[in-house]
Amino acid sequence: MAEQDRFDVIVVGAGNAAMCAALAAREEGARVLVLEKAPAEEKGGNSAFSGGLFRFAHQGPEDVLPLVPDTTPAEVARMDMGSYSAETYSDDLIRLSEGLADPELIRVLVDESYDTMRWMQTRLGVQWELNRQSPRQEDRDSFLPGNELTAWGGGAGLMQQLFHVAEGNGVDVVCSASVIGLLTDDRGGVCGVRVKTGGEIQSLDAGAVVLGSGGFEASPEMRARYLGPGWDRMKVRGSRYNTGEVLDRAREIGALTSGAWSRSDSGPGDMDSPEVGVMAMGNLYARNSSRLGIMVNADGRRFADEGADFHSTGGVELGYAIWSQPDGAAYQIFDQQAAPMVEGPYGAGGRPVTAHTWEELAGKLQLDPDALENTVAEYNGAVEDGVLNLNVKDGKGATGLNPPKSNWAMRLDQPPFVAYRVTTTILFSYGGLAVDPKARVLDGAYEPISGLFATGEAIGGLYYRHFSTGSGLMLGSVFGRIAGANAAKHAE
Ligand SMILES: Cc1cc2nc3c(=O)[nH]c(=O)nc-3n(C[C@H](O)[C@H](O)[C@H](O)COP(=O)(O)OP(=O)(O)OC[C@H]3O[C@@H](n4cnc5c(N)ncnc54)[C@H](O)[C@@H]3O)c2cc1C
Repeated sequence: MAEQDRFDVIVVGAGNAAMCAALAAREEGARVLVLEKAPAEEKGGNSAFSGGLFRFAHQGPEDVLPLVPDTTPAEVARMDMGSYSAETYSDDLIRLSEGLADPELIRVLVDESYDTMRWMQTRLGVQWELNRQSPRQEDRDSFLPGNELTAWGGGAGLMQQLFHVAEGNGVDVVCSASVIGLLTDDRGGVCGVRVKTGGEIQSLDAGAVVLGSGGFEASPEMRARYLGPGWDRMKVRGSRYNTGEVLDRAREIGALTSGAWSRSDSGPGDMDSPEVGVMAMGNLYARNSSRLGIMVNADGRRFADEGADFHSTGGVELGYAIWSQPDGAAYQIFDQQAAPMVEGPYGAGGRPVTAHTWEELAGKLQLDPDALENTVAEYNGAVEDGVLNLNVKDGKGATGLNPPKSNWAMRLDQPPFVAYRVTTTILFSYGGLAVDPKARVLDGAYEPISGLFATGEAIGGLYYRHFSTGSGLMLGSVFGRIAGANAAKHAE
């Protein structure tokens, strides 16, 4: 990479969104350069930490199974899988954003989701697999609608596959290369970047630039500034390189922002998580099974409706509830009916505290034993009879309590009891740059900034109150594909 080199398209970042953009631009014949801030061994962004889940619209197994052609007849026979229509997907995004999400962006995300899955499979060679976190009851594999597939090997596998394709297609990925500025021409259009590599600063010209540089969640300063006091102390679940400076550089040349800058995807994580994510651990610090038990705070009291929603669409509420407790801490407590059903990461990275009586558990957790016993007795007394069904909101609640537990309530009466200490960890920020359906970054007059495109976490406008799991990667791929193709055309 020399200063006199000119690329058709420069892509900033090397996560899923950026790599989809780079590969789509390459497909159009563009000469593409990817600049990634992280060193080679940490490239891949939050995408590499993720569970690799993709949420896409489909009509049921007839659409899903072609994406996983190796599925055996035995697997198909024990599968309960419905459809996830475009309408349901849109409704979910509208509901979870409390009606604030940009309807045009929703339309593009939803309408292009299945086609983009097929594009990744057939053109990029990405392999998918059935979601292994799906609830299993009575030997049936049930798939929550929209949660059917992950990339083969999860987020790490996804990124391995995309880097492999990039290499084979002549897309250069330069690591340890921080983009520190955007070059503009005399009409305000973007015509390149300033990049710092190995202590040297270079200006690189390009026909178009795509920003796939993620959000600002790994910057304590920006967290405190936008998310609120105390958020600078929160642990980061994913990459430590998503520090938001590219968003600032874009704003400095007039880019408009969009989405909920004061809200983030933050959910229950292990209290022993490191301050920032460790790539080899991926998402193993996730503690997403609150709905199977109860959560208590340092006073031994419940403070949230653990069964209000599935983790995929309710985990953020629980994350925010935990963060508002003393020390931003809580215990998730399960008995032996629930413990075998907790998600995989508990087994891989968790440090359970186990006890045969509530008094013993309280002692080990340094909680007031009377308070804990009262909480459990009150909860057990309120659990309604009925049939547990983890695949739907089963309405089997613990009612008359404050707060109630609305679904999936099981009495905690089968020792040994198991507790996990949790806190809130941030996955990603919701605020980003405003783009149009062509992934062009808009200025304050809602006009596209010539030569500037964005995708993935770098764009805002989809998430406000809550995220729907799987739509982060899908958004990056859909808009990455659009951004890359349009950037290549712009550069012609
Ligand atoms: C633990 C975890 C689990 C998740 N699980 C899922 C899931 O299963 N499904 C789902 O849909 N979503 C999931 N998410 C959210 C999802 O990971 C993100 O929405 C998605 O990965 C964002 O992709 P991206 O390419 O926009 O950003 P990233 O993958 O974060 O990539 C951004 C890249 O830009 C680079 N960069 C930043 N600044 C610069 C700069 N100045 N110069 C050069 N490069 C720069 C970063 O180093 C990084 O590599 C999860 C998130 C986390 C943290």
